[in-house]
Amino acid sequence: MINEVYPGIFRITEKGALGLLKPPVNIYVVPGTDGIVFDAGYGNRNAVRKFCKEFGSIKEQCRREGRSFSVSRVLLSHAHPDHFAGLRGFRGSLGLRTMMTKRSFEMIASKERYRASYHTGDDWWEMAYPSVMQRNMMNLLRQPINRYYEHLYGTSFPAAPDIVIEENCSIPVNGESWQVLHVPGHAEDHIALYDPLRGILFAGDNIMRAMTTWLGPPKSDLAAYITSLKRMRDLPGLNLVLSAHGSPVTDPVERIQELIDIRMKRTEQVLEMITAKGGEGIMFRDLLDSLYPGAGWIKHRAAEGWVQTTLQFLMKTEQVELVKYGRMISFRTR
Ligand SMILES: [Zn+2]
Repeated sequence: MINEVYPGIFRITEKGALGLLKPPVNIYVVPGTDGIVFDAGYGNRNAVRKFCKEFGSIKEQCRREGRSFSVSRVLLSHAHPDHFAGLRGFRGSLGLRTMMTKRSFEMIASKERYRASYHTGDDWWEMAYPSVMQRNMMNLLRQPINRYYEHLYGTSFPAAPDIVIEENCSIPVNGESWQVLHVPGHAEDHIALYDPLRGILFAGDNIMRAMTTWLGPPKSDLAAYITSLKRMRDLPGLNLVLSAHGSPVTDPVERIQELIDIRMKRTEQVLEMITAKGGEGIMFRDLLDSLYPGAGWIKHRAAEGWVQTTLQFLMKTEQVELVKYGRMISFRTR
């Protein structure tokens, strides 16, 4: 089914699998005299094949309706595998020229670099896996887990981009000038694409209608995320947000404000819980328990990223400090 989410903008949604492990992901096709594709989705052979098929159907529909269909470029939002893994296939099968920033390319220039970019610092690793046994087990599992994810996402690493773009710049799309905005926070290399004439923002993972954005070390940064959200909220004429996951956001200013409020409230909540513990502080696991009382391991695993990113923010802003007692790590207010 061809899904034209806005006149002249088509969405192709690639199927996910296994719930949160592999979420469905959106790719946007903007045909025209000099059109563009935003993001490349998964890289599995089936995913690429289905994309090419739908791309062909859109082309066919445009031809039938006498609309131009000249699309020769694909722009990457950020170097996460559900966005870049399809690049190699799109280039090979459709001849799309790849466009990305230097920072994005540096993170995916090789498998080694990519894997290294996921290493969190030792402290965060120890907090997530407090016992030595757990840590040894996770160390053993690290390689197979990496390989499993790379297989699941069809991760393949793109060749050097055909077009390197600046993080804040304008690019021509169908004879108009669209804006590329650097919007770090979820990922440090994240960019968004803005069509100022129609007020349409391709926001990647930063803004979603029904979910909050995943945050976690080592690449997320809460202060940067809030700044980016404000920058996007304040775009003149913002009218519609098209996200990498989920349906379009038709009340973008309200939704972005809501996301800012959620992050502020969560930060306050974490700070209050730490303050309540006084001088002895609170350990990471106990903090997760207080935030999600009675929740199981999976819920905790899913939440620990944002909690760690929030703690990093509170430490950076000198509201909280990390204290080590032997192997134990706790947090207390300064
Ligand atoms: Zn992402």
